[in-house]
Amino acid sequence: MQTLHLTHNENDIQTAGKILSEGGLVAIPTETVYGLAANALDGAAVAKIFAAKGRPMDNPLIVHIADFSDMERFSLVREIPEAAYRLAATFWPGPLTIIMKKGSAVPDAVSAGLDTVAIRFPAHPLAQAVIRAAGVPLAAPSANLSGSPSPTSAKHVLHDMDGKIDAVLDGGLCAVGLESTVITLVTEVPRVLRPGGVTPEMLSEALGEVEIDDAVIHQLPEGAKAASPGMKYKHYAPKANVILLKCGDGDFIDYVNRSAGRGVAALCCDEDLPLLHNVKAISLGRRGDYGAQAHNLFDSLRRIDGYGDVVTVFSRLPSPDGVGLAVYNRLIRAAGFEVIDLEQS
Ligand code: AMP
Ligand code: MG
Repeated sequence: MQTLHLTHNENDIQTAGKILSEGGLVAIPTETVYGLAANALDGAAVAKIFAAKGRPMDNPLIVHIADFSDMERFSLVREIPEAAYRLAATFWPGPLTIIMKKGSAVPDAVSAGLDTVAIRFPAHPLAQAVIRAAGVPLAAPSANLSGSPSPTSAKHVLHDMDGKIDAVLDGGLCAVGLESTVITLVTEVPRVLRPGGVTPEMLSEALGEVEIDDAVIHQLPEGAKAASPGMKYKHYAPKANVILLKCGDGDFIDYVNRSAGRGVAALCCDEDLPLLHNVKAISLGRRGDYGAQAHNLFDSLRRIDGYGDVVTVFSRLPSPDGVGLAVYNRLIRAAGFEVIDLEQS
């Protein structure tokens, strides 16, 4: 299959909409990462997403809408809880996914057999335009091969998906750079299943009490059932082995410099660059600027693979507050939960 390269003109948006309404796959830009979209109401189209990504069938997809009213119009949810109105008023359109009881029109392939469905109203004007052009809600996971870092540019998408999908619509770089925050409203207390640009602190302000699922920062015990199936997989990983260091700033520099040599890289902060020697160092942004670090993380993980000869990558364990929690969650999965605690040793 030849993958069409579309841009943001009206003709191309209509082409993307037509491919989608006919059951094809189009990668589209959103403010979080690029999504691999299919008609969410068409089980056969959705099945192609799983095949193209190599995604485990038990990992459900997020349904993207272009208006709050689409949830009722397309029978996507059984009912809209009061909390969803409050969340939507503050955070939609935007990088927040809300899990509710599933409606009658959602195929099992989308929800991976669960009785719930994840819904998001993206803010990116191109994502909205393509959903409207398709005339249906779009199921769209991140447009990467399963297990590798999510794509934040059309170039990343083509690296993984060229020849496997009908088209990619190039909308430049994604602003947030990490996938949406996922919150479920089917638990007694609303619970964050995946952290993102909308932080638990912001959610509590809108809703009152909010819980954070254990799987956000901890490794699930072998065989445990994940509230969010996606959280149980090794994820976002470059080919090199990522190791996180829990330590102060000086100790990070000392440890990495002592390990320096062939095959060693560091994902660090701007302030570290002049202090690291004999290591391939990529800065994620200024120290403590987790918005910038989120924006740069996946591109940096892919750049490490581009070097070809990196065996080990060291990074700091981020502070798990605000957007830092989202960076923590992605990095610790990229590292397969491998943390060296220098404070204890
Ligand atoms: P992705 O689209 O690749 O960003 O992944 C979507 C994420 O949302 C995965 O971690 C899924 O496990 C999660 N998700 C989607 N639908 C549900 C659902 N109904 N219940 C719980 N988690 C969900
Ligand atoms: Mg993904």
